[in-house]
Amino acid sequence: MDFAPSEEQRAIFDLAREFGAEHIAPHARTWEAEGTIPRTLWPELGALGFGGLYVRESSGGSGLSRLDATLVFEALSMACPSVAAFLSIHNMCAKMIDAFGSEEMRARVLPEALPMQTVLSYCLTEPGSGSDAAALKTRAVRGAEGWALTGTKAFISGGGYSDAYVVMARSGAAGPKGISAFLVEDGRPGLSFGGLEDKMGWRAQPTRQVQFDNCAIPATNLLGEEGHGFRYAMSGLDGGRLNIAASSLGAAQAALDATLSYMGERQAFGQSLDRFQALQFRLADMEIELQAARIFLRQAAWKLDRGAPDATRFCAMAKAFVTETGSKVADACLQLHGGYGYLADYGIEKIVRDLRVHQILEGTNEIMRLIVARQLLEARG
Ligand SMILES: Cc1cc2nc3c(=O)[nH]c(=O)nc-3n(C[C@H](O)[C@H](O)[C@H](O)COP(=O)(O)OP(=O)(O)OC[C@H]3O[C@@H](n4cnc5c(N)ncnc54)[C@H](O)[C@@H]3O)c2cc1C
Repeated sequence: MDFAPSEEQRAIFDLAREFGAEHIAPHARTWEAEGTIPRTLWPELGALGFGGLYVRESSGGSGLSRLDATLVFEALSMACPSVAAFLSIHNMCAKMIDAFGSEEMRARVLPEALPMQTVLSYCLTEPGSGSDAAALKTRAVRGAEGWALTGTKAFISGGGYSDAYVVMARSGAAGPKGISAFLVEDGRPGLSFGGLEDKMGWRAQPTRQVQFDNCAIPATNLLGEEGHGFRYAMSGLDGGRLNIAASSLGAAQAALDATLSYMGERQAFGQSLDRFQALQFRLADMEIELQAARIFLRQAAWKLDRGAPDATRFCAMAKAFVTETGSKVADACLQLHGGYGYLADYGIEKIVRDLRVHQILEGTNEIMRLIVARQLLEARG
C-alpha cells in the first residue's frame, strides 16, 4: 500500500494548479457575472492534454488513470469549480466516443474535441426524469437516411454553447435497454435551446434546455450499438462522480487556505482570530475532514482504475462524502470570515454557491446512498 503521489502525479497537479491560478482564478468572477466561459480558454486546456484526460493515447488522448484525472479536477477547482466541472463533462463525452464510437466517429470527432477546438455536452436528464434517468422519453426514430430525434433535455451544461451533444434517446421499448446514444452536432435542423437558466452557482457555465424537433442526424451518428446507450451513459458516471468530488475537494481546500490567511490578519478583542482556541479547533476539524475526504476519494479512484468489483460503491460513497464535506468546510470558512465571507470580494461565498450543486448532479447524494445500501443488503444475502 502506497499513499504517496508519484512524481508524475505531483507534476500533473502542479501543472493544473498553476494554470488555474494564472488563467482562470483572476477571471472567475467576471465569467460568473457574464454567465459564460470564453471559448478561447478551452484550447489552452486542450494544449495541456486536458481535453481527453482518459481517452486512450492510441486515439490521441492523454491516457491518464482516473486517479490522475482527479488530481487535475482538484487542482483546477481551486481556481473555479464551475470551469473544472465543465471540463469534466467534456471529458466524459470524449471518453464515451473513444470507448464506444466507431472508428469513423472517433476519427471525425476526436481530432477537434481532444485539443478542445470543439467542446461536448452530455444530455441525459429530461424535465420529467432526473434520478430515474432510464424513464427518459426523447424519441429516436430510424428513417431511410438516419435518425430523427424528438424531445427535450433539461439542465444541460453547455446547452446552446457546445459544439456537439451526446444524447441519450429512446429508440426501442421502455426501460434502459430501449435507449441508444447519439451524437448531435450544433446547427442540425430541428435542434434548438431554451433560455439561460438562472442558477445559484455554476453561473459561469451556461445551462439550458436542449430541444429536438424531428432533428435529423445521419445513421453514422449512432454512438456504438443500438440499445446500449444507457449502459454507455452510466459507464462514464463512476469517473464523473470522482471528478465532481475532486472539484468539491479542491475548492474547499482553497477556501480553507484563504481562511488560514484571513484569520492571521483579522483582529478581534485585541488579537488575531487565529489566537482563539475555539477557532483553532475549527481549523483542525476542517483539516481532518478534508484529509479524510482526499484519502477516501483517491481510494475510490484507485479501485475504479483497477476495475475492483466494489468500485461503483466506493465511487458513490466518495461522491457523497467528499461533496458533503466540501460544502460543510466551505460554509465553515464563510462563517470564520464573518460578514466579509458573505461579500463576493473575498471569494468564499462563490465557493459555497458553486459546491452546492455537487450534491445534486452526477446522481444525487440520495441516489449515492441508494447504491451503497442496495449493495450492502445484497451482500447480506
Ligand atoms: C446546474 C446543473 C447542471 C446539470 N447538468 C446536467 C448535464 O449537463 N446533463 C444532464 O444530463 N443533466 C444535468 N443536470 C441534471 C442533474 O443530473 C439532475 O438534476 C439530477 O440527476 C437530479 O434529477 P432531478 O433534478 O430531476 O431530481 P429528482 O430526480 O426529481 O429528485 C428530487 C429529489 O428526490 C430524491 N430522490 C429521487 N429518487 C429517489 C429515490 N429512489 N430514493 C431516494 N431519494 C430519491 C432526489 O435525491 C432529490 O433529492 C444538471 C443539473 C443542474 C442543477
